[in-house]
Amino acid sequence: MVLKGEATVIKNAGSHFLLSELPVWAPFPALLKGKVRLGGSTATNPVAVGDRVRYEAEVPDGAGTEAVDMLHPAAIAEVLDRRNYIIRKSTNLSRQNHVIAANIDRAYLVVSLYFPQIKLPFLDRLLVTCEVYGIPATVVMNKVDLYREEAAEYVQDFHRIYEGAGYPVLETSVLTGEGIDALREDCKDKVCLFSGESGVGKSSLIHALDPSLDPKVGRISDVHLQGRHTTSLYEMYRLTSGGYIIDTPGLRGFGLVRLEKEEIALYFPEMLQAAQECRFTPCTHTHEPGCAVKAAVEAGTISPERYSSYLGMLEEDTKFR
Ligand code: GDP
Ligand code: ZN
Repeated sequence: MVLKGEATVIKNAGSHFLLSELPVWAPFPALLKGKVRLGGSTATNPVAVGDRVRYEAEVPDGAGTEAVDMLHPAAIAEVLDRRNYIIRKSTNLSRQNHVIAANIDRAYLVVSLYFPQIKLPFLDRLLVTCEVYGIPATVVMNKVDLYREEAAEYVQDFHRIYEGAGYPVLETSVLTGEGIDALREDCKDKVCLFSGESGVGKSSLIHALDPSLDPKVGRISDVHLQGRHTTSLYEMYRLTSGGYIIDTPGLRGFGLVRLEKEEIALYFPEMLQAAQECRFTPCTHTHEPGCAVKAAVEAGTISPERYSSYLGMLEEDTKFR
């Protein structure tokens, strides 16, 4: 008989996929069936991790997806509309994009204020990217055991800057275990994207959230796809405590989006709000008289650090013209 259903893509390995009917975690293999409908996409991959799909599978009468195996994989018949997705620009000139993941509930941007020292403008670019993609972001300040006392003022400033801009900031230490329970709780029932510059402790953090996960070592083995295509492999992991994690390799894997000059301020939430009071529209919030954003920076309700990142993005954008 033909079994039909809806499931989530939990692993994408070239033309092979693993699906599971989340929140149930019971993976089964699937292939793409002929032409899969996905309106107007220029992506190299029509199906990505996190995608909701409609599948069909040939199984013995009365059987369920447990009867779907590598010899009798399911067929992905349709990809359902995405709530959001992140892309990486392909490196060649084909102008095609690679969809890394879809339907993400929250992005956790892992940073450390020191070791390696954080560059705020870079974090701000990532936050802008999350805004463009429509993915709520949380900043995870890891390794606090190394600097919270020595750099107490900077830690306070950091909270003020990012919470002031509307982003939750969690403090964690893999070393002391502090904040790990809170992060685990935060991840519950969500599809969570983890991103972080190499060295900030992202792998350690994921391992601390769930000791069965070890992003640096071999990941989770699964018999279904072993030995298959290993390029551009993205995968969703289940946290034993609830929730799902998609790990992106480094921050660069999280494609930065090119924006028009006048668009940039739309993705700084605190500026977007203040900008409604600017005398001129559009306003670049640089030299215009009656600019409410500049007034807010002077009044201290918008942080000078965020404003400075904004100016940096504007300038960089202009340089390309
Ligand atoms: P990733 O490149 O972001 O995945 O970073 P890793 O998880 O490999 O961690 C980089 C280094 O930082 C390792 O030596 C970890 O032991 C260390 N590390 C990770 N988290 C913490 C932490 O909270 N406190 C301290 N002191 N070291 C940490
Ligand atoms: Zn303005």
